[in-house]
Amino acid sequence: TMFERVLTRNFGLPRSETIDVYIANGGYQALPKVLREYTPKQVIEIVTASGLRGRGGAGFPAGRKWSFMPSAPDIEKYVCVNTDEGEPGTFKDRELVEKDPHQIIEGVIIASYAVGAHRAFVYIRGEFFLGVKRWIKAIDDAYGKGFLGQNILGSGFSLDLSVHRGAGAYICGEETALIESLEGKRGQPRKKPPYPASVGLWGKPTLVHNVETLASVPHIINRGAEWYASIGTPKSTGPKIFCISGHVRNRGVFELPLGVTLREIIDEHAGGTAFDKKLKAVIPGGASTPMLTPEQVDIAMDFESLEAAGTMLGTGAIIVMYEDTCMVDVARRLMRFFAHESCGHCTPCRTGTQRLLDILERVEHGAGEPGDVERLGEIAQGMRGLTFCPLGDAAANPILSGLKLFRDEYEYHVQHKRCAVAA
Ligand code: SF4
Repeated sequence: TMFERVLTRNFGLPRSETIDVYIANGGYQALPKVLREYTPKQVIEIVTASGLRGRGGAGFPAGRKWSFMPSAPDIEKYVCVNTDEGEPGTFKDRELVEKDPHQIIEGVIIASYAVGAHRAFVYIRGEFFLGVKRWIKAIDDAYGKGFLGQNILGSGFSLDLSVHRGAGAYICGEETALIESLEGKRGQPRKKPPYPASVGLWGKPTLVHNVETLASVPHIINRGAEWYASIGTPKSTGPKIFCISGHVRNRGVFELPLGVTLREIIDEHAGGTAFDKKLKAVIPGGASTPMLTPEQVDIAMDFESLEAAGTMLGTGAIIVMYEDTCMVDVARRLMRFFAHESCGHCTPCRTGTQRLLDILERVEHGAGEPGDVERLGEIAQGMRGLTFCPLGDAAANPILSGLKLFRDEYEYHVQHKRCAVAA
């Protein structure tokens, strides 16, 4: 597929992160248009009509999320930019922040205008040192040009935006944990409902959005909802940044329309599997999404098709594994991540991830005990749907899908005390 890049169109230009390059390439044209021509309600209608869905994993319709915010002007409201990207395999938001932060800022200002917020926060993962620098510089420059602050472009609308660094916890990417952390507390999820749109930051209505979602907004304003909706599939509209890693020739980010086939991404854009080895399994949407087999790679990469196949589009982070991959090792590595990132609030996740990790470690290292394979399945099954936040499911998924597709490899490990695959 030949595709005109939208979100990544400035990638590769010298100094693409600067406000000058952004403006020279059509940036900050949507903002004055919105402030002069549209009421907040009209902006929400345009975003709704575009079909834009959240790019942070859940795929919730953005326009609907905006419309949940109370419209009364006397209520204090907030917008948060979720730059906590931490799902293993995902690195699209970091690229956007480092290479073209102003389109995100323009999206934040438009979203804040639409929902009536005058204070917005960037919550960024603590390890993103360059990202923090880029955010701070970009925000300073946007203030300098009058795109942020009091009475933006003489419109009477005001917005302040500042950066808050997280301490590097995966769970802080979950919107209620992000809010807790932003309030200065330990990053642990809150009970939902109430949802942040009614009770969010400091108890006030709050819109939390992923970076890529907000970056899409100026383009929708500039080129129209119909144009945006014409890209992708009827229910999964627009361009999407896919990140591909693992055993392919060209790892990196590729912006393509939603609905592109997984085969096309792997074979054409990522150059095929490394060393022309046979494909074994693909994680389609980040570490927490169930795996696909080589027979399934003709699947369309959109929210509906992946759900129908029992997995998820997630963040669009594709991890490719070729034939020499030990699937017990894959599961053990993923579980080490989830056990480390479990916030400890609820028992099935706190103890479940640790028990799974213990068993996977001994199985991989040739000390597996009879019944371990069954135990893995039982523990993972006992976490699914029974934890306080989605991290429990996220941790159980790779185990359950691994056991479903590669159970014989687990059995071999236990029986023969070594791996059948890895040299
Ligand atoms: Fe914390 Fe895990 Fe429970 Fe989520 S599922 S609240 S991360 S312990």
